[in-house]
Amino acid sequence: MGGDGPAVCVIGAGAIGLCSALELARRGVSQVTVIEARHVAAGSSGLSVGIVETQYLDSLDIELRARSMRSFERLEREHGLRVVRNGYLRLGHSAEARAAFERSVEIQHELGVLDASVLDSEQVGRLVPDMRVDDVQAGLFGPSDGFIDGHLYCGLLAELALGAGVKLLVGAELLGAEQLDRGGLRLSTSAGELECDLAVDAAGPWAGRVAELLGCEVELVPQRHQASAVHLPHELAYTMPSVMDYTPGIGERGLYFRHEGPGRLIAGLHGEEASERAVDPDSFARQADEEFLEALARKLTSRLPRLADSALAGGWAGLYPVSATGRPLVGPLGGCASVIVAGGAGGSGIQLSPVLGELAADWVVHGGPRVVAGALELAPR
Ligand SMILES: Cc1cc2nc3c(=O)[nH]c(=O)nc-3n(C[C@H](O)[C@H](O)[C@H](O)COP(=O)(O)OP(=O)(O)OC[C@H]3O[C@@H](n4cnc5c(N)ncnc54)[C@H](O)[C@@H]3O)c2cc1C
Repeated sequence: MGGDGPAVCVIGAGAIGLCSALELARRGVSQVTVIEARHVAAGSSGLSVGIVETQYLDSLDIELRARSMRSFERLEREHGLRVVRNGYLRLGHSAEARAAFERSVEIQHELGVLDASVLDSEQVGRLVPDMRVDDVQAGLFGPSDGFIDGHLYCGLLAELALGAGVKLLVGAELLGAEQLDRGGLRLSTSAGELECDLAVDAAGPWAGRVAELLGCEVELVPQRHQASAVHLPHELAYTMPSVMDYTPGIGERGLYFRHEGPGRLIAGLHGEEASERAVDPDSFARQADEEFLEALARKLTSRLPRLADSALAGGWAGLYPVSATGRPLVGPLGGCASVIVAGGAGGSGIQLSPVLGELAADWVVHGGPRVVAGALELAPR
């Protein structure tokens, strides 16, 4: 295998696999190969709504996202990644939510996210004049948050990774693996065999299956989530921020929507519960179903009553890869020292991909997390 550092095979050319490969190459690991069954962004990364933001409540969740946002800024500045900075607004409906938002702003400020603030109901109403705010107690607002296009982002990552010396094998599905006596793995793929010292399982909703093929286990639920384009009755005189009206733990998915173009939004229903039903990642229904579109239309009309004449057009479904804890997973799989998992990021895999890539590289190069020390919590148990 030779070269600098271990030979590493990354399984999956979605956002997280590509970030892991790029970060490994940047750290001087000279033999990095990405194995992708189909093509770049063929999985969830090409089906996402692309929102990137830091308006979370828990300090580790915020730190991970604040670090990722700095990577998006660099990609924007140095490589022309298009980041639409329409802002992100999380709605709160209680005094407890307001207190949690205030704490979030303190943490964000400590981490250098200086423009995050808590808005009162009136300020929220001024920011989004078409929105019902009589039940809103506070908004957690990040004006420089935004969204990116998952396909373009992964295409850019692939280009940068190739430029840094990473090998990218597309149309190469991992079919099985053999543990070698001298350590390391022999992988058999639909495009031939290859050997590596370490594998990074970044197969998104397929990560559980890929772990099995590698002779390990990880509990990961592929959950089906849907979104739809929304045609507004008229163009807005303001740019719609990304609005999230979801409270964790309430037992139902919450509404979100964001600017897409003049007179158009993208909207969906988001949840972060680990308990939802798993679907088969190879055969889930790709089109949005009627029940979802009806529920979405009801919630949109209730939250944006002045835009009630909007029409839903072009819904689709994709998968959130959700871990048993509901948090992302990065670290070695139990009993499988040569396999590191990076994934389980649910509905946040695009916004978390830079930091999860760095953490996967930390595990390969240093045997543990360095860039975010508290990320030891994310190692599978
Ligand atoms: C409707 C929707 C909206 C979303 N909105 C957002 C959002 O606004 N912001 C956000 O941050 N996140 C969002 N997400 C979540 C985000 O898309 C995912 O968390 C993220 O894309 C996961 O990336 P990944 O790299 O882990 O997996 P994927 O992108 O799924 O990549 C895994 C890759 O592994 C490959 N693979 C699988 N099996 C094998 C094998 N045996 N051999 C080789 N290759 C294999 C697949 O082909 C695939 O390309 C959304 C998701 C959905 C469905």
